Amino acid sequence: MEATRQLFWNTNGKGAMYFIALISMAFFIVGGSKKLGSWLAGRPIRYDDLGLRFKRFVLDLIKHDTDIFRGTFRRIMHLGVFYGFVILTIGTLVIAIQDHFGIPLFYGKTYLILSLLMDLFGLMMMVGIGMAAYKRYIDKPDHEDYTFDDAFLLILIFLILFTGFVMESLRIYATLDPWAWWSPVGLLFSAGIQILGVSVPAALMTHAFLWYFHMLLVFGFIAYIPYSKLFHMFASSLNIFLKPSTPIGGLTPVDQLSNQGRNIGAARLEDFTQKQLLELDACISCGRCQKGCPAYNSGAPLSPSVVIRALKRHSMAKNSFFRSKIKAFNPSILDKVIAKETLWACTTCGLCEDKCPVNIEHIKRIVDMRRSLVTEEGGYPLEVQKVFENISAVGNPWGLSPDSKYYLAKESQVALLKKNNPTDILYWVGCHGSYETRNMKVSQVMFKLLEKAGVNYATLGREEKCCGDSVRRLGNEKLFQELALENIKTLSQYTFNTIMTTCPHCYNMLKNEYPQFGGHYQVVHHSEFLLDLIKSGQLKPKGIDHLKVTYHDPCYLGRYNAIYQAPRDILTSIPGLELVEMKNNRARAFCCGAGGGRLWMEDNKDETINSLLVKKALRTEPDILATACPLCLTTLTEAASRSMAELECLDLAEILYNSL
Ligand code: SF4
Ligand code: SF4
Repeated sequence: MEATRQLFWNTNGKGAMYFIALISMAFFIVGGSKKLGSWLAGRPIRYDDLGLRFKRFVLDLIKHDTDIFRGTFRRIMHLGVFYGFVILTIGTLVIAIQDHFGIPLFYGKTYLILSLLMDLFGLMMMVGIGMAAYKRYIDKPDHEDYTFDDAFLLILIFLILFTGFVMESLRIYATLDPWAWWSPVGLLFSAGIQILGVSVPAALMTHAFLWYFHMLLVFGFIAYIPYSKLFHMFASSLNIFLKPSTPIGGLTPVDQLSNQGRNIGAARLEDFTQKQLLELDACISCGRCQKGCPAYNSGAPLSPSVVIRALKRHSMAKNSFFRSKIKAFNPSILDKVIAKETLWACTTCGLCEDKCPVNIEHIKRIVDMRRSLVTEEGGYPLEVQKVFENISAVGNPWGLSPDSKYYLAKESQVALLKKNNPTDILYWVGCHGSYETRNMKVSQVMFKLLEKAGVNYATLGREEKCCGDSVRRLGNEKLFQELALENIKTLSQYTFNTIMTTCPHCYNMLKNEYPQFGGHYQVVHHSEFLLDLIKSGQLKPKGIDHLKVTYHDPCYLGRYNAIYQAPRDILTSIPGLELVEMKNNRARAFCCGAGGGRLWMEDNKDETINSLLVKKALRTEPDILATACPLCLTTLTEAASRSMAELECLDLAEILYNSL
């Protein structure tokens, strides 16, 4: 006899099941289409490399070894639920195809293997559900935000699995199934029924009742998916599939927005991109972004997960069936749904994006809303207005005369770039390196190092204008584009091989954002450049008396551009220097608080981001806190002096120079 089992055994509810299935599917389709409609209401975005994306996505999904499931506990939990769901869905589809189309699939070896897999993966799913319940209601990480929906879903899935196993065990018990060993969990349950001494008629009756109950639970569950958090199965997967291959925080040029006749920035839901609206449903409210956010940790009124949840609630209100009854519905987001202070608190450090398991891009959304604030009267802080005015007038945030750049170069006898005189290295000094006292010292050290190594280089002097990083992150896209185009025009008049800069913000703009406007350059950060000079023997660190150094990874160098090793290699190439790492470093490094234009804004809180970072650095008991960014150097020097700790903050170049 060929192995199989009778479908719809002990029930005559097949007609009722198809009827309820239709109702369930109708709910699913209506709910799903509403979600899809809410995403499609946003600005369209073009995505290329679809083949490559698909491959990466499928591999990520199969392996489950990406950052998405960080931590063994979470990984096992999600693996159990995910693969349990996949195998049970496949098994159910096989049964449905056989029943509906009469194709004999559920027979012989296929039947036995599928029975075994469905049993084992069903058990895995139950374990996964149990682990999720433990995490949420016993372990209770304080950053995670759970609602009634979460508990309801866990109970619902558990009941579906449990009733499924009980039904299977009753069938095995009543039919003395000869292939019961291929359903080990059902067999185990049936042994329990035997021990309880349940009679066969009672087993049949219980099975018949449970069949209806289980069926209602399953179709109720399917109907509920688009209205619950479980819809993240689709939204999160799609969001991971759409993950940009560009560095984090890359912003969309505004002229693309205005071409489409939409608002500059985002003042209403429709002003966001389709992906940004999809992200509202992709978020699983795990709270990891909030837990990592330096602004949130310093007590600023910003939590990236709260921003997402507030926008999602707004979207649900907008797309609600009862919306026409909600007379007070106001489509505006700014200062209604998201407070201005929240938007101005972000340092664009990218820690939230690194931590997000489903690749939600917070920075673009925040900057898009800032862009709308900048077009409003009084939408931005007064300090920011001053920065815009200064940069617009003289090309630097302090409003200082560009002649300072010229004199800095002249004093140090540095060559200025000349037309028809090709140069190997264009040293882009940047605003901080040119005008800010502490960082001017770093520029002078760099001049000496380049001189010592015999590098053929020159600077732009007073022709170099602010790269526009702060201006762009502050939302003033118009002024940024003016600066970028002017700098690109200036650069086009000279011949050079590589732009070298000490500022990761300038580096990021010149390398990753100027190409949007036709400026394509080979750009190198001074950490990479100095390391090459050491490797080639042009610079030879002799050594220093024992010095304990901890290194802070600047956000725009590390998370934005994945330059982690070069700075460390420079430090460890110095004999006598001991490099001690902070607990969170590299991609998980904290922030100095200066990015995203925050450097120019008042911060009157007791606890500031830079002081939090200095505290973290002090835990390593270093002599020196090293960094490779002028903004970090400014804020860390200030926080270190406030902390009264004996901690010197130096740029890598300064440490290297002292060791020669
Ligand atoms: S970019 Fe940084 S400061 Fe801004 S929300 Fe994310 S973690 Fe917070
Ligand atoms: S945005 Fe990402 S990290 Fe933050 S709560 Fe949502 S899923 Fe979690």
